[in-house]
Parts: sequence; structure tokens; C-alpha cells
Amino acid sequence: MHTVVIGGGVVGLSCALALAERGGDVTVCEAGTLGGGSTGRAAGGIRAQFSTPVNVDLSLASVPVWESFEERFGVDVDYRKNGYLFLAREEETAAAFEANVEMQTARGVDSRTLSPAEAREHCPQLRAEAFVAATYCPDDGVADPHSAVQGYSRAVEERGVDVRTRTPVTGLSPPESADGPWRVETPGETLSADYVVNAAGAWARRVGRLAGVELPIAPRRRQATVVEPETAMAESVPLTVDLDRGVYFRPEREGTALVGGHFADADPDVDPDDFSESPDLAWTAEAVERAADAAAYFGPETRVRNGWAGLYAVTPDHHAVVDEARPGFVVAAGFSGHGFQHAPATGECVAELCLDGAASHVDVSALSLERFESDEPGTVEQNVA
Ligand SMILES: Cc1cc2nc3c(=O)[nH]c(=O)nc-3n(C[C@H](O)[C@H](O)[C@H](O)COP(=O)(O)OP(=O)(O)OC[C@H]3O[C@@H](n4cnc5c(N)ncnc54)[C@H](O)[C@@H]3O)c2cc1C
Repeated sequence: MHTVVIGGGVVGLSCALALAERGGDVTVCEAGTLGGGSTGRAAGGIRAQFSTPVNVDLSLASVPVWESFEERFGVDVDYRKNGYLFLAREEETAAAFEANVEMQTARGVDSRTLSPAEAREHCPQLRAEAFVAATYCPDDGVADPHSAVQGYSRAVEERGVDVRTRTPVTGLSPPESADGPWRVETPGETLSADYVVNAAGAWARRVGRLAGVELPIAPRRRQATVVEPETAMAESVPLTVDLDRGVYFRPEREGTALVGGHFADADPDVDPDDFSESPDLAWTAEAVERAADAAAYFGPETRVRNGWAGLYAVTPDHHAVVDEARPGFVVAAGFSGHGFQHAPATGECVAELCLDGAASHVDVSALSLERFESDEPGTVEQNVA
């Protein structure tokens, strides 16, 4: 069985590996370079503290891969378990935290609620008085997305996957008969495929249209900056999220910190082929100011070192689509800010969808495309980091 995976980010590579490990014949078509899309711009956060069961389950099924990455892929992914600390300013957010922790612990996550004073034990410069509640999970952490791409690309090549970079898919034709192949057009060649996997991230809507499938996946610009805080940040500080103000920070190396977030929900779609990859000055100033409101690391002497902007692939409920959207056309895209960490489990689910007709590694029925046709609004994932 031949599968063409469109997109050579971490999700496409993970799908390609899982398919090849089950004996599939796989081609990856990547318009640019491997990891050159959103994957190379991710902050590397890995957490099980999500607000819906499906996202928690994708995390729990992915973490073992991150934990054994070097052993399995021969590349050190620099996985550091410093935890994630979520902070609430509003009582409504605090109530949601209680419900989230209850759901998470029922699924086996070691998360807990903390008082703001207890939260300060993990993040010593926290302005605890600004918050009403916190949650913490010591097993959450960060890893390096570039090393992950290196590991996955090495593994797929070892498994005989045909990886074609600088190969955009420009056209898709569905089978003309029930058991006929898909036709996948690229500039040099038209390929035949039993299955096509749309792992094109922020470009997934465009790729969907080539197959006649309308996907509610919008490319949204997201920014991050690395600063030298006025007070150096210890490497043991968790990735700390001020959820009600839309900002997060975590330690980088040698006392520096990464600050990210977004402050306007109504930000427009961007053209994924034409957006500024540099952070805006106004955004950077606002992000550092918001971080300073949360923790005293970021006093007036804080210096900005560098930064970047990349794309989230955003659906209306901030959950991915992992589904066979039409026969032989599987979608694995729309992960918002959590596609890096969920890539390992997603790959397994996509391989099962293609080879077994249904996913069992994780129950991804909540990630169907059909859910957007329902009048019932789904639960929206809390989505800052
Ligand atoms: C600032 C920022 C911070 C983030 N932080 C985190 C984080 O802490 N944790 C986390 O889990 N996630 C994070 N993310 C999100 C994460 O980066 C994405 O969810 C993840 O990288 C998605 O991977 P992907 O493989 O689906 O997409 P991509 O890496 O974008 O790969 C898609 C690929 O498809 C290719 N493509 C597009 N069109 C075509 C075509 N027609 N033919 C062939 N190829 C095509 C593109 O060139 C691209 O390389 C962050 C994102 C940003 C921008």
C-alpha cells in the first residue's frame, strides 16, 4: 500500500514513520525543507495539562516517545521536565482549573491545584498576590523541535521512506473507481497513492481544497521572544502560563527566558506563504510587560535578545482534525499550539486510520471533521502555550 504524506513537519514525519514501521510504502512530499514550517518555530512545550480528554490522551500517548527519544532515534531531544505552571487571575478560570485537574488525574496525570503561595515555590519571582489559583504538573516540560525533526528524518530514511523536499503537491485527483488510486501532482511527477495524508499544518486548508475538502483550519501568526531578564531565571522554573492575560514564559539557557503568547482573539488569518517571520516591536514590548505583571524577573532592565514569528493552524475549537475526511484522504492538522508535542501519538493514529480503517492508539473520534457540522459548540481548549 502506497501513502503520500503531504508535509514534512514533525506531524508528517511521525505519520510517515508509523506507516513505514507497519510495512507501508511511503512518500513524503515537502514543499520546502523538513521542519521548515511551524515545527522549527515551536517553543517545544510538552504537557498533559489540557482541558479535554482527547488532548490529555494524545499527550499521555506521546510522552513515552519523548522520554525514550534518544534511545529510539539516536538524537538527544533535550527533554527537560521542569513542569508547567498555569495561573488564574479570575475565579471563573480557577473553577475551570479544578475541573481540569479532576479530569486529568482521573486519566492518570500527576497534576494538582496549588495556592498562589505554593506556586511561588516553583517560580520564586512570581507576583503571587496577582493570582487566585494555580495548577502544576511536574511531568510536563520542554524538548527541542529541531532535534526532533532530525531524529524523525533519520528514522524515516532508515525505514526506506522516499522523502522529497522542495516538492510541493500542486494537485490531487480522487480515485476514478472504488479501488483506484489517488493522483498526486508535483512539479516533476504525478504519483499514485492508495492514501493521501494532509499533514500540511497551516497550509492544510489549501491542501484540503485540492482534494475537494473544506477544512476550517486558519493560519494564525504567533510570536515568541528571548530576553535577558533583569533577574536571571533558574533553569528549574516551570513553563509558566498567565492564562487570563495570554502570556507565558520559561527559562532558556544561561539565565535567559523565552516569552510568548497572544493577546487578541480576533487576529486575522495570514497568508502562510507571505507573513513577517520577525516579531513586532509592539508585541514584544507588550509581551514583556505582561510577563513583568506576572513575575518580577522582567524588571525595567530586561533586555530583548531575539525573537521570531510562526504560524499556528487554528480550528474554531482549537482542537486538531485527525480523520479520514473522504475515502483515502486523511487529515492530521489544525493543532494550534500543541502539534509538536502531539506528533508521536498522531502518527500512530494516522497509520491506523490508513491501515486498519480506525484509530485505536488514542480515541480520536472527538477530532473528526464532522464535529464542525454540529450545532453544539465543542469545548474550546485553553490555548496560550
Ligand atoms: C511561536 C510558536 C510556538 C509554539 N509552541 C509550541 C509548543 O510549545 N508546543 C507544541 O506542541 N507546539 C507548539 N507550537 C505549534 C507547533 O509548532 C505546530 O503545532 C506543529 O509544528 C505542527 O506541525 P506540522 O507538521 O503539522 O506543521 P508544519 O511544521 O508547519 O509542517 C507542515 C509542512 O507542510 C508543508 N507544505 C505546505 N503545503 C504543502 C504542499 N502543497 N505540498 C507539500 N508540502 C506542503 C510546509 O512547507 C510545512 O513544512 C508553536 C508554534 C508557534 C508558531
